[in-house]
Amino acid sequence: MLATKYIARNYRNISRRWIKTLDVAVVGGGIMGSSSAYHLMKGKRDFKVGLFEQFELGHIFGSSHGDARLIRPTYPDETYVGMCMISFEGWDELSDEVGLKGDDKLQHMTGGLEIGTKGSDAVRLLEETLIKMGLQFSIMDGGDISKSFPQFSFDSDFIGIYCEKSGVLRADDCLKAYNKATTMMGGLLFPHHTLKSLSKHPDSDTFLLEFEIKSGEIERVESKEVVLTAGPWTSSQKPVTFLLIKYLCRWDLRTSRYISACSCDPRGC
Ligand SMILES: Cc1cc2nc3c(=O)[nH]c(=O)nc-3n(C[C@H](O)[C@H](O)[C@H](O)COP(=O)(O)OP(=O)(O)OC[C@H]3O[C@@H](n4cnc5c(N)ncnc54)[C@H](O)[C@@H]3O)c2cc1C
Repeated sequence: MLATKYIARNYRNISRRWIKTLDVAVVGGGIMGSSSAYHLMKGKRDFKVGLFEQFELGHIFGSSHGDARLIRPTYPDETYVGMCMISFEGWDELSDEVGLKGDDKLQHMTGGLEIGTKGSDAVRLLEETLIKMGLQFSIMDGGDISKSFPQFSFDSDFIGIYCEKSGVLRADDCLKAYNKATTMMGGLLFPHHTLKSLSKHPDSDTFLLEFEIKSGEIERVESKEVVLTAGPWTSSQKPVTFLLIKYLCRWDLRTSRYISACSCDPRGC
């Protein structure tokens, strides 16, 4: 319910002419695209972001719908632990922005239990990483696990790492919250827009996108940048993917810099 009325209002008010000049077109309205559109809009003025989705927003055919997703900082890699710590803050901020309080908040800490073989490299690395990152956790042997969680039965070959700072996210509500917050900042949502082609503008430094809309008509959009978050559909969009590979860059977590896939200026090669 959360975002539906915002999407409908937003969608009705769109001027066809306006959408010809976007700063960023985000294609794919799952959690990745919805998050991208929100973060692209955040803190900017007069910035035009459009989020294009082939189905209804919040549909059940991708990977992002459902009641819950696990969120946990228990990774054997400092980068992922760091990302998770940032995302805890981000989810709370988003809850506040869209007015979700108490039990309606997007994330709920439940605690999380990782189980591995005693003495294994995986368990050792996880422990080392959590210590390095200053995270509180407790070690449980097989017997402790069965006492605290009677649904499990492990012998002494196994060890548990219990971390209180793990929990669940309300997946459907996360998507709705992102979409609501995006529209509150002036971003536009375009359900029932299926990307059919993507090309470089012959005369300018922009991209041209063609979308098939519900009526079967084609709608054309021009955008300075394109973010493709098509999830498992990406591989079925070969012409799009080939073009993107040429201009692709990725965010390198370790150096906090964009890296071009072909190791030269993504717009100049
Ligand atoms: C059962 C299950 C359990 C999971 N559990 C967890 C968990 O506990 N914790 C966790 O962190 N992650 C979990 N994940 C993973 C997480 O849910 C996914 O990584 C995430 O949802 C992927 O989002 P996405 O936006 O990349 O893809 P999707 O949700 O698939 O979104 C892609 C979108 O692109 C749209 N699209 C595709 N082609 C076009 C086109 N041509 N034009 C317009 N739109 C297009 C699609 O319609 C779709 O909406 C789980 C996933 C599943 C399936």
